[in-house]
Amino acid sequence: MNRLTNKTALVTGASRGIGRAIAERLGRDGALVAVHYSTNSEAAEQTVKTIVAAGGRAFAVQAELGVPGDVEVLFDGVQAGLKEHGGRVELDILVNNAGIMGGVAPEDVTPELFDRLMAVNAKAPLFILMRALSVMPDGGRVINISSGLTRVSNAQEVAYAMTKGAVEMIALHYAKHLGSRGITVNSVAPGVTNNGSEIFNNPDAVAFMSNLSAFGRVGEPTDIGDVVAFLASDDARWITGAFIDASGGSLLG
Ligand code: NAP
Repeated sequence: MNRLTNKTALVTGASRGIGRAIAERLGRDGALVAVHYSTNSEAAEQTVKTIVAAGGRAFAVQAELGVPGDVEVLFDGVQAGLKEHGGRVELDILVNNAGIMGGVAPEDVTPELFDRLMAVNAKAPLFILMRALSVMPDGGRVINISSGLTRVSNAQEVAYAMTKGAVEMIALHYAKHLGSRGITVNSVAPGVTNNGSEIFNNPDAVAFMSNLSAFGRVGEPTDIGDVVAFLASDDARWITGAFIDASGGSLLG
């Protein structure tokens, strides 16, 4: 299926986890994919290799997000990569996926931790979107990765959840603004998703996390990649400003 042939895509945080699965799926669908990462160049190159091995096109782009000048560094790399790969320098699809969690007791959130979470998870996506819009043609797609924690309580992640609440506002407020250009803006909220981190090797923890879902398992990154690929496609042209629950029914209570 090559429903994204001749499209270009940027997926932030695509070296690992959910972002990697999104990038791989968009690559399989035919898009030329900018695989963004921060520090893990080897992992980003692995994502690129997987896309290329499947017959797709991709390149890696480094930029630390949440620091001054991040957006310009990112777009210098994206535009250079698009040129080098013979694509248009326009960006059809933006997936704001890169994110960090807090993981501290609610009594231990510091102003510094809060600022860092907000800078990476909410401020960077907004300013990446604003920059992307100058090179996004009509009919473009913006997908922001939020979290089920904007709908269910977890005190360990209060600051993180606040940043995800903030990033969801992008869809609400930009979707209408960009409707005349046929650009859709949506939020996708995963539940617990196996990103390969240590906790997913602990059977007791996995059993507990599996019980949160109506399907009795944790999510796989491809579960999210497939949802994002749908939103990126022409089939989703009538969906904008939406909050898409991609938690495997974890929000049903
Ligand atoms: P992950 O495996 O921890 O990977 C994070 C990705 O973001 C990596 O590619 C990393 O790059 C990049 N990144 C992290 N900090 C960055 C920074 N400051 N600047 C630039 N890039 C940075 O993440 P994940 O679990 O797949 O999560 C992906 C998204 O889904 C996040 O927005 C997360 O909040 C959301 N989410 C995840 C879950 C879950 O259970 N996994 C649930 C709900 C929502 P490097 O490899 O270079 O470090």
